[in-house]
Amino acid sequence: MSILPYLIQNNDLAGKDVTLLGLGKFGGGVATVRFLVEKGARVTILDSKPAEALQESIRQLENCADVAFQLGDSSTELPATQLLVVNPAIPPDHALLKNAAQQQIPVTSEMELFWQLNPGRVIGVTGSNGKSTTTAMIHSILKAAGRRCWLGGNIGISLLPELEQIQADDWVVLELSSFQLEALNRIQVSPHIALVTNFSPNHLDWHQTLAHYRQSKQTILRWQSESDVAVLNRDDPELQGWQTTGNILTFSTDVELDPDLFVSQNSFQFKDEWGTLSPELKVPGAHNRWNAAAALLACRAAGIPAQDLNQGLESFTGLPHRLEFVGEYQQRRFYNDSLATTPESAICALDAFRDSPVILLAGGSNKYVDLTEFARRFRGQTKATALMGQTGKLMYDSLQEQPFSDQKSGSAVISLPQTSFENAFTWAFQQSAPGDVILLSPGCASYDWFTSFVERGERFRTLFRQLSDESQSG
Ligand code: ADP
Repeated sequence: MSILPYLIQNNDLAGKDVTLLGLGKFGGGVATVRFLVEKGARVTILDSKPAEALQESIRQLENCADVAFQLGDSSTELPATQLLVVNPAIPPDHALLKNAAQQQIPVTSEMELFWQLNPGRVIGVTGSNGKSTTTAMIHSILKAAGRRCWLGGNIGISLLPELEQIQADDWVVLELSSFQLEALNRIQVSPHIALVTNFSPNHLDWHQTLAHYRQSKQTILRWQSESDVAVLNRDDPELQGWQTTGNILTFSTDVELDPDLFVSQNSFQFKDEWGTLSPELKVPGAHNRWNAAAALLACRAAGIPAQDLNQGLESFTGLPHRLEFVGEYQQRRFYNDSLATTPESAICALDAFRDSPVILLAGGSNKYVDLTEFARRFRGQTKATALMGQTGKLMYDSLQEQPFSDQKSGSAVISLPQTSFENAFTWAFQQSAPGDVILLSPGCASYDWFTSFVERGERFRTLFRQLSDESQSG
């Protein structure tokens, strides 16, 4: 029995009994409940998590009338309801979805509701990596070019509350996860401008098979028309077979592949009379050049002229706490990568700065993962590294035990275990010289000195601001 989609009609929600499956903690659930209540629906919130785990979301709904909670509930029978709204994290084989299909109760989601009511033109971004960055880059370019535009979707922003403000000529830039695309397939829609950064196996716990994951992602192209545009990564062999009725624009790092936009070390070359752009990106690494290329093509398809493309790319400082450019002071560039809570992600950050001398702030609370390779890499690849937190001590001890046992182990100056974040920051600045990058990419969680990676990243920004303000006032 297949799932019945919900096609919204005027005032259709007024007086309806609606069940929301999965409130979640990221804002989408709260925005959906508020929207439904505003439209006059009576909402029952079902979540297998207990109230304690959902405190913040529940608090945000305190003033909402007509909401009932059924929390800590994993029952496989739906309560009596006329419409089921599912959180994107609910897998397609969930018992209550099957139950809704059997009873022919229509099913929808936050994105389907938004899509059906949105009057604006959509640029949709998906891919296995780089979605959020590319989405935010497109938004930055459109904004700098003076266009009315909105940023939302999987990036963590629900645009349901903005529906009244969005106009027909506005651009709505949406990051679309495979889960959201799977839902959009139910109502058979694709964005006017669709962008796929790349494709590799991911989320197989939700999708079960790679084929299902691929099919969900391909929804972004499936329902396009001839007047639509698809921006595709020509370097990714996986995307070669992806079909669309829209016009395909490609980017590639290989000029032989004859892409619409050729991405080189220091420029972006359009195939046609648009010529070459050489924006100075604040966000580091080769992957961000691919993301920028994709964003350039999408904005070109949206009608932004060549001379207006550079500004928004150059002012883009990255997503918060993710290799985010914080600022420059005395010719040192400061980057906040507080989100790097695993050694693998911190190693990626070191790779992104391969061409610059780096002073690293590393270490944090102990998740009992192996940090040997991370330590080897920062000893080999940085100019100096400040060691912080519980793992800072551990890495210091292990580096003492194996001091430079092999030739390639490098010559970074390694600090003593620092006693505070402030001291680590000061030490890092003292080690630095003009031209250096000062990078917070701890490779560890933050729970020894901070409540979260967000607090850690914000402290880094504050310390940077204090440092640069001091010099101005002094
Ligand atoms: P997503 O939204 O798809 O998770 P993000 O833009 O948030 O992607 O980037 C997450 C991480 O993925 C980045 O920190 C970077 O390490 C990596 N990344 C970003 N863009 C790309 C890309 N185009 N190809 C491969 N990896 C990328």
